[in-house]
Order: sequence, then C-alpha cells, then structure tokens
Amino acid sequence: MGTKSEAPWHTPVVESLRAGPGTRVSELDTNGTPGFEGDKALAERLLVERGAALSDLQGKLFANGRIGDPRSVLLILQGMDTAGKGGMVRHVIGHVDPQGVDHTAFGVPTAEEKRHHFLWRIVKALPRGGQLGVFDRSHYEDVLVARVRSLVPENVWRRRYDEINQFESEITATGTTLVKVAMFVSLDEQKKRLSERLERRDKYWKYDPSDVSERALWPQYQEAYQDMLDKTNTENAPWYVIPCDRKWYSRIAVTELLIDVFERLDLDWPDPTFDIEVEKRRLAKA
Ligand code: AMP
Ligand code: MG
Repeated sequence: MGTKSEAPWHTPVVESLRAGPGTRVSELDTNGTPGFEGDKALAERLLVERGAALSDLQGKLFANGRIGDPRSVLLILQGMDTAGKGGMVRHVIGHVDPQGVDHTAFGVPTAEEKRHHFLWRIVKALPRGGQLGVFDRSHYEDVLVARVRSLVPENVWRRRYDEINQFESEITATGTTLVKVAMFVSLDEQKKRLSERLERRDKYWKYDPSDVSERALWPQYQEAYQDMLDKTNTENAPWYVIPCDRKWYSRIAVTELLIDVFERLDLDWPDPTFDIEVEKRRLAKA
C-alpha cells in the first residue's frame, strides 16, 4: 500500500493503527475498522489478492536470505485469549511459503526456561536471515501475565521495559524488522468466543478454564497493556493497535501492515550468479 492510500483504504494502516501518546487501551473501539471503507465481503476478497502480494514479497526475502542477506521480519502477535492470534497465523501468514516462516508460540515457561533470563527463550526463537518470524505471544507476557499474576516482584517486571527496549534495538540493528501487533477484543466479544469453545466439538481443545478466571482481571490487564504500549513503543520497534472484534478487519489490516513493512525493505529477486546464455546452451546440450 505504501504511504499513499488506495481504495478501499482512506488512511494507510501504518498511520491509523500506530500506537501513540494518545492511545488509551480502556477506550479503544475494538469493533472499529480504522482506515477501511469496505465491508466484510470486500475484506475477504481483498485478503486473497493482498495475501498473494504478501507472498511475493516474502518470497523475495526468502530468496535473498538464501544468498546471505541477513535481513528478517518478525511479527509479534500479542493479545488476550480469543483475540484471534491463531487465526491471524492461519489466515494471513497462511498465504506465504511455509519454508520461509519461523513460527513460535510461547506458553507458560518450562522448568528449564524458568531457570534462565526471560529473554533466553526469545533469543533462541529469533528468525534467521530471509525468514519471516512469527511470535504467538512473546517476551511481552513477562510484563503482562507476569505483572498481573505477580509471578515476579514488581521491581523485576518494572525493569523489564528497559531490558526489552534495549534488546529490540539490538535485534533491529542487526537486520530484523519488528512488527509489533497488539490485538484487542472487547470483554463481550471474548465471552462470545469462549462460549463457542464450549459449544463446538472442534473448539473444545482451545478452551482453558483459567481463561475465565483471567476475565476478572481485565482492568489489571488493560493497565498492563497500556504500560506496555507507553513504555515500549519505540521508533525502531513501534506498536500497532488492532481492533479485533471483527476478524475480517484485523486480518486484512495486518496483511496491509506486513506488506507495507516488506515494501520498505525494497526487495528484489536476486541477480543470477551465472551467465544465463551460457547455461541455456549447456542445458540444451545436456
Ligand atoms: P495459549 O496461547 O492459549 O496457548 O496460552 C498460553 C498461556 O501461556 C497463556 O495463559 C499465557 O499467559 C501463558 N504464558 C505465556 N508466556 C508466559 C510467561 N512468560 N509467563 C507466564 N505465563 C506465560
Ligand atoms: Mg488459550
């Protein structure tokens, strides 16, 4: 999409979704469709077309990675349960070549992970050159659930914001472009999605009784998300705030966001490292 907007967008997502000093988590319109003028049917049609465009760009990143380009892109999906992180992976990342995707979902730290610094498991999962890394949850859990559930003392989680900023500035300096996506659903929409998990055989596996207990802590989570946005929304590693009550919107929005980021890498297919005419002649005779 670049910096100019094209129908059905009246404002590019990099502008309309970028977190800023005025972003208020408790006042977000999670049902909104910022920048977008179309409806669900249009968004779903566009997702196919724009998914193909994303795939082409990711293919170029992958091809360049094969010849030593150290650059990578890392999409961080952070949101409460039912925000649609898994669906984002299936419906957006699902458009690109899986060979070039390095996906990691972060759950409750294992015994081994708990013995290390909170960034230890994150460093291990960083994408190599040419890869599109995808984090379903991330190091931000260590200032979200860890804070709300008092898993560590306050002085420990408080210093993590600086540690995260330092860490992210190091990885962006070595060629990883970060796309940090904070996904928000309303408390009502979450209830609908959780109750669906109790109604459908294909969704039981997603239901976690502890998600219901987390609902009582919604205000504390909102505060933790607010601080996360306020303290780690840096120039190098900006946050984008995605309203997620309408899945069709959140998916096309993140697709456009990724396309924008990839376009700014100014990628092209690598030049051949051989003489094409010579090779054609050789092949004809082979
Ligand atoms: P799900 O994404 O539904 O598979 O759930 C993963 C669970 O792991 C969520 O309840 C997260 O809060 C939890 N989790 C992820 N990272 C951490 C962390 N660093 N510390 C504690 N819990 C975590
Ligand atoms: Mg869950």
